[in-house]
Amino acid sequence: MPKQSPKKSQSFWFILDNYVHVSVRGKSALFYNSLTGKILEYRDCETVIRLVKRLRSPGNLQVVGLTGKELANPGVSRFVKDMRTFFMGDLIDAALTRGKPMQMAPYPNIQQDVEVIKKSTRGSAAVGDRMMKYAAEVSIYINSACGLDCGLCGSAHRQFLCCTRGRNTRAELEPRSVKNLLQQLQGSSLARLNILGGDIFKFSQWEQLPEILNAPALPAEKFFYTHYLNLAGQEKKIAQFPAGSFSLKIVVPFPVKTRQWEEIIGAPAVNRPGTHFLFIIAGEADSDAAEELIARHRLENHSFYPFFNGRNREFFRQAVFVDKQDLEEARPTMTEILARQCINPLHFGTLTILSNGHIHADVNAPRLGTLAGDSIYDMVYKEMYRGSSWRRTRKKATPCRRCTFNALCPPLSNYEYALGQNNLCHIWENSL
Ligand code: SF4
Ligand code: SF4
Repeated sequence: MPKQSPKKSQSFWFILDNYVHVSVRGKSALFYNSLTGKILEYRDCETVIRLVKRLRSPGNLQVVGLTGKELANPGVSRFVKDMRTFFMGDLIDAALTRGKPMQMAPYPNIQQDVEVIKKSTRGSAAVGDRMMKYAAEVSIYINSACGLDCGLCGSAHRQFLCCTRGRNTRAELEPRSVKNLLQQLQGSSLARLNILGGDIFKFSQWEQLPEILNAPALPAEKFFYTHYLNLAGQEKKIAQFPAGSFSLKIVVPFPVKTRQWEEIIGAPAVNRPGTHFLFIIAGEADSDAAEELIARHRLENHSFYPFFNGRNREFFRQAVFVDKQDLEEARPTMTEILARQCINPLHFGTLTILSNGHIHADVNAPRLGTLAGDSIYDMVYKEMYRGSSWRRTRKKATPCRRCTFNALCPPLSNYEYALGQNNLCHIWENSL
C-alpha cells in the first residue's frame, strides 16, 4: 500500500506476479508463491473472489486497475497488503506508468497430441511416430513362479513396483514375446525398463534374457526386482549379464530373516554398483528396523516404501498424509503445477506387462490390451485417448476437484486406490 492513504480519485495498477498460482473453489481462494512456497488462503471472502475473477479474465492478464476508493475497502486493502508482504503482487501508481503494464500469464499447456487424437477421425495416424515418444517406462513381469509366500504378495505390487505371484503361479512370458516387445520400443523415448516376477531367477529360459535385454538399440536403464531371499545362490545367473548392464532393486519386507540376510548382504551380486534396497514399511517398527540395517551395513542406496496392509491406516495418517506445511516445504514449481493439471506425472508414459501377457497403463487401471494381440504403439495411443491412468488428475477426482489445493498436492498415486480415498491429507477434513 502507498505510505499515505490514497486519494479516492487516484488510480493504481494491481499486478499479480506470474509465479503465483491461484485457485478458486466456491467462496475459497488460494494463492501460492512458487518461489517461496508460501500459501495464503481466503475463506468466505467475496471481495477477494471478485478481484480474482477480474485478474483472471483473459483480457486482464493478471493486472487490474484499482481506484483509491476501492483501496479504501478494508477487504481489498488487506488483500493487497498480503500480496505485497509475501511477494505475490504489487501496486503501482497509474500516474507513473504509460498505460497498463504487460504481464505474461501462464496457462496450462494442454496436451496437444491428446487434443489432436480426440478430435481426429484418423486414429493414431493423426499423431504418427510422435506417439512412441510417450513410452518412457515399461515394467515387464516375466514370470509369476516364486517359492516364497509373503503376506504382502497380492497387494504390494498394486501400491508400488514389487514382485507378485499373481493368480496363475505358472504364468510366464515367451522370450520371443519379450524380444518382440523390446523391438517395438526401439527408437522410443524409453528411459527405464523394469524386470520383475515372481522370482525372476525361476524364469525357465533365463539364458536367453541377456541377449534379448541388451539389444544395442534399446539404451534404457534396466532394473531387476527381486526379494532378498530369492537372491541366494543366484550368482551364476547374474554373472551371465555384462557388468553394468542392469541394477538390482532388492525388496526387503519385515521382519528380516537374520541368517539369510547376513549371507546375502555379503554376496558379490548384491555389492554391484547401483544396487538399491527397497524397504517395505508397514509401521514404525519396520522403519526403525530398516534404519538399523542401513546404519549397520552402511547402505547408501535405499528407499522406504510405505505399505498399506489394511490394518495400518493410522500409520498412513501419520507418515503419508500431507498437510499444508508439507506442501509449502515441497514447493512445487509453476511448471510442475501446470503439468499436474493436465497429466499424472507419476504414471504418464508408463506401461506394465503382466506375466499373463496383459498390458496395463498401471496395474490398478483396466487392461489396455494383450501382448499377443496388440502393438505397443496402439497401447500408447489407447491410453493417450482414454487417459484413465496417464491423465488421472486431482482436478477430476472426488473430493479433490472441489479443493483449492488440488494442483499443489502430489499427483494421485496407487496409495489412493489401496486406501480407497483420494484425499490422503489432513487438509480436506479441516476445511469442512
Ligand atoms: S517374493 Fe515377491 S513374488 Fe514371491 S511371494 Fe514374496 S512378494 Fe510374492
Ligand atoms: S482434498 Fe485432495 S486436493 Fe485437497 S488437500 Fe486433500 S489431497 Fe489435496
